[in-house]
Amino acid sequence: MLEIELLHQEIRLCRACTEAGFSVEPPPLVSGHAPATFMLIGQAPSRSDQLNQHMYTGPAAQKLFVWLRSAGFTDDDFGGIFYLTALTKCFPGRLPGKSTDRAPSSREMALCSHWLTSQLAIVRPKAVLLFGKMAVDRFLGPGSMTDRIGQTFHQGGIEYIPLPHSSGASTWLNYPENRARLALALEIVRQVRLRVLAEAVSPTAPASG
Ligand code: SF4
Repeated sequence: MLEIELLHQEIRLCRACTEAGFSVEPPPLVSGHAPATFMLIGQAPSRSDQLNQHMYTGPAAQKLFVWLRSAGFTDDDFGGIFYLTALTKCFPGRLPGKSTDRAPSSREMALCSHWLTSQLAIVRPKAVLLFGKMAVDRFLGPGSMTDRIGQTFHQGGIEYIPLPHSSGASTWLNYPENRARLALALEIVRQVRLRVLAEAVSPTAPASG
């Protein structure tokens, strides 16, 4: 069995958050193959993901894929060169008395962190898209989305590209200047896609902006 399949098998059996008393709704969700050129890391599976038993199936994900298609990605890319995951792998449940999803706590993210570390080590992405503030802060440290959207960050040989969350619950994109930042971020994504795919075809080609 492939290393990534073994890892997925282990992740699916994890109940660490349930055992710690958190109201997550397992099973953990994993999607993708390794190696993969791109990795998408969001916050946590949605209700829709849990129902479909597949990552990135809800309305916010569909909006994200519209953004990424505008940056040159195709539907084949999402099933092929993209590895899809999140900071935590189990649907966190709804906020009490509300129809919005509960964000995973810092303790749940800590419990799940080693799975993400293992995924990164096996998938070995060239570029990682960080989807939403929780994912951005996890990799870049606490900070302002306004200062980060429209930039790339290099750590350990991986290029990290922050993106805002596309959920209607976020008001960040209501501001025209932030929509301009998103457009800049997607232009960066488009350039990184072209460059990384060119390097994959010709590994010795010099990198260009
Ligand atoms: S969220 Fe992560 S650590 Fe928590 S039970 Fe699911 S897989 Fe395990």
